[in-house]
Amino acid sequence: MQQKEVLLCMDIGGTNCRMGLCDRDYALCEKKIVSTEQLIEQGFATELVALIRSFLSQYQKMYTVRGISLGFPATIDREKRIVLQAPAIPGVDGFAACDLLEKEFELPVFLEKDVIHLMRYDLNDLRLPLEGLLIGIYFGTGIGNAIFWNGKPYAGRNGVAGELGHIPQMNNLRSCSCGNIGCLEPFGGGKRLTELCQTEFADTPVKTVYREHLFAKSVQQQIDAMAIAVATEVNILDPDCVVLGGGLLQMEGFPVEQLETRIRSYVRKPYPERNLRLVYSKPNQENGIIGAGICGWEKLSYSV
Ligand SMILES: [Zn+2]
Repeated sequence: MQQKEVLLCMDIGGTNCRMGLCDRDYALCEKKIVSTEQLIEQGFATELVALIRSFLSQYQKMYTVRGISLGFPATIDREKRIVLQAPAIPGVDGFAACDLLEKEFELPVFLEKDVIHLMRYDLNDLRLPLEGLLIGIYFGTGIGNAIFWNGKPYAGRNGVAGELGHIPQMNNLRSCSCGNIGCLEPFGGGKRLTELCQTEFADTPVKTVYREHLFAKSVQQQIDAMAIAVATEVNILDPDCVVLGGGLLQMEGFPVEQLETRIRSYVRKPYPERNLRLVYSKPNQENGIIGAGICGWEKLSYSV
């Protein structure tokens, strides 16, 4: 029997590293989760190679692996070969992932910012036409942003376009995980909720903060910061469609309608506000791995 062709796909996050084998129909065949901390402890590069080697050896009799596709919560260089800066994963900055893994495994290796994979998954899942300008904004620990132009991610001169969370704000002296002072992300990202639950709402678990304290000034300000992020990009790009997603929108009591109203209040009138199209991602822990698969198969087909 002919072996099924797959890509080994990884979604490496600040907490967990998810991996799986993704076939040409974008179905996930096998999967595994390890803690990212475990990879960092013994030296990230060495542990990553060992993890991939053991995963491949487990399935090599059943599948033909055609390549490796990796997503990091990081800025990636223009050639998509080096992890430039990953605030959530210590010791990974400057990691030349593709050179190392191509040499070790003699397979093509593709690297992307994780949010590009999430958005590519959503474009497929929501059956959005790929023509035109599509943007994705994902509110998790931070604010993730992907910009697609005619089906391809827009990378920018250095490969680092779409750092929406790091737009500076007036009169903001807070330091951000990126190293700058004044970014929007510490106000609009999920880290802000964690912070509020350590100070203002000490008895509230983070997951219920919207349900229990929606009308507190600090929570309203956090939602406002989310709306400012979305409206900023809409006002600059006048996109054909905006995909909104991430864990915050899935939290109990999250006020989707209120967020939409705020976004619309900040977006320029009459256009792009009048026909602004907002759609919602259906988050799942596996979206990042499958998105890595879709992007990987597309890149493999260009390179043949
Ligand atoms: Zn920043």
